[in-house]
Amino acid sequence: MQLLFADQLGPHFDLGGEILLPEVLSQFSKRRYHRQKAHLILYAIRSRARDERVSAVSLDSYRELGNFSGINAAISPTSREMLALAKSLKIELHEPRGFCSSSSDWTSFRTDKSPRLENFYRRQRARLDVLMEGPVPTGGVWNYDHENRKPAPKGGLGLAHFEIIEDEIDQGVRETLDELESSGAASFIGVDGPRKFAGDRQQAIAALNHFIEFQLDAFGPYEDAVFDGEWVLAHSMLSAPMNLGLLDPMEVVRAVEAAFLRGEASIQSAEGFIRQVIGWRDYVWHLYWEYGPDYLESNFLQAHTPLPTDWSELQPQNLQANCLSKTIGNVSENAWAHHIQRLMILGNVALQRGYDPKAVNDWLVDAFVDGTPWVMPANVIGMSLFADGGRMSTKPYAAGGSYINKMSNYCGGCRFDPKIRLGPNACPITAGYWSFLAKNETRLAGNQRMWQAYSGLRRLGNVSEIVAQEAARDSL
Ligand SMILES: Cc1cc2nc3c(=O)[nH]c(=O)nc-3n(C[C@H](O)[C@H](O)[C@H](O)COP(=O)(O)OP(=O)(O)OC[C@H]3O[C@@H](n4cnc5c(N)ncnc54)[C@H](O)[C@@H]3O)c2cc1C
Ligand code: SF4
Repeated sequence: MQLLFADQLGPHFDLGGEILLPEVLSQFSKRRYHRQKAHLILYAIRSRARDERVSAVSLDSYRELGNFSGINAAISPTSREMLALAKSLKIELHEPRGFCSSSSDWTSFRTDKSPRLENFYRRQRARLDVLMEGPVPTGGVWNYDHENRKPAPKGGLGLAHFEIIEDEIDQGVRETLDELESSGAASFIGVDGPRKFAGDRQQAIAALNHFIEFQLDAFGPYEDAVFDGEWVLAHSMLSAPMNLGLLDPMEVVRAVEAAFLRGEASIQSAEGFIRQVIGWRDYVWHLYWEYGPDYLESNFLQAHTPLPTDWSELQPQNLQANCLSKTIGNVSENAWAHHIQRLMILGNVALQRGYDPKAVNDWLVDAFVDGTPWVMPANVIGMSLFADGGRMSTKPYAAGGSYINKMSNYCGGCRFDPKIRLGPNACPITAGYWSFLAKNETRLAGNQRMWQAYSGLRRLGNVSEIVAQEAARDSL
């Protein structure tokens, strides 16, 4: 009998025989998850359990699996914790699935002279033969990133995103979670909105088709856009179904490639999207295993500020910085925010304010519907917070309010002014940026890619006043 983990729910994880699928509600008591994340996971498990080959069991703990004598195989799970458990059961473990490359593909890439993402991505394109014409990338160039940085037009994109119609399984899940909360067994964060993300195979395919038909063509140009009032824009909402194992990332990639070949999407949109999946997604997956558990303790910038309660409790109402308030509000309402909100608003603020990297990492795993232990470390410890000192990214993703003003419509509705650095209207993101540079000068000024930023800092006359102002700011 195959042991199935809760993120292995699609056909590409099915070994073809009897399946044991555990539901372990005590997982929700260990940490404070977003209510909608807990809902999606339980929904997905219970939907998979409808298959007659699946025996669903409710357990108090994964350790109880040791009492089941019939389990003889599993696909290797995605976290170190679950891998240790699977190994302790002494069953046959198959190679991991649900990604577009194997550990041996990664090993051979790591011997490359330049083992950065762009190189990994190009190798993936060529090896998988995606958007390729022989050895040449379709369109003649590998990367259209420079064309993919448009802000949304004034009225927004106006694209319809995928929506779910809840069913009786949702109702049962809601009752279970209400009981857990009222008995004190679990305490969730965020609001219990209607479910927004695909939780079974059929819904996942519908979500993929919806994205291709209505959003894909706009994905590339507006990939980095942020727009108050449109929380999804042209993003696919497919990370959750892919991370639950409901969609094979390669089927997503082939569907997008086919849409391009049919003339339904531009090359910059198809390429931009495919790079995220065969490039970034696989890259951070392999780094999770390569960097190991100690990576989570990295703290190159000596950032020790505790995560504010506005974040940990998802309380946007006390935040005055419109960009941050709206983003935390999106997370509270949807357990999701798109990439630029994660990287350039949440990540940027956490970097500037010196929030403890592991606390940020763990909060994102628990608060985001697609958060998993494997996806977060490289994205957070590495890319967003530069806590690894440059092992993953060549420089910190720090930016001031002018970037947010260019890419979003948040600043118009904000009590601060993105151009002002000092005084009551000083934008905390702009002033926070200069203060961050000043505080970390000894650690970062030697980084060649920070040369321009530090020459800007040296031209500023009032740096110590900005640093003092930001140190005294008790809330954003
Ligand atoms: C601070 C931070 C936290 C993040 N947390 C998560 C997370 O919890 N789970 C998660 O899957 N992704 C995470 N990402 C990556 C990315 O932001 C999300 O995958 C994306 O926003 C999910 O929405 P979508 O499916 O609509 O993505 P789209 O914008 O439609 O992108 C397509 C797909 O590309 C993949 N992808 C794109 N960028 C990345 C990346 N950097 N790492 C891994 N996959 C990527 C995802 O599978 C995504 O579904 C994080 C990035 C940052 C900077
Ligand atoms: S002015 Fe500053 S704080 Fe306000 S929305 Fe713009 S970037 Fe954010």
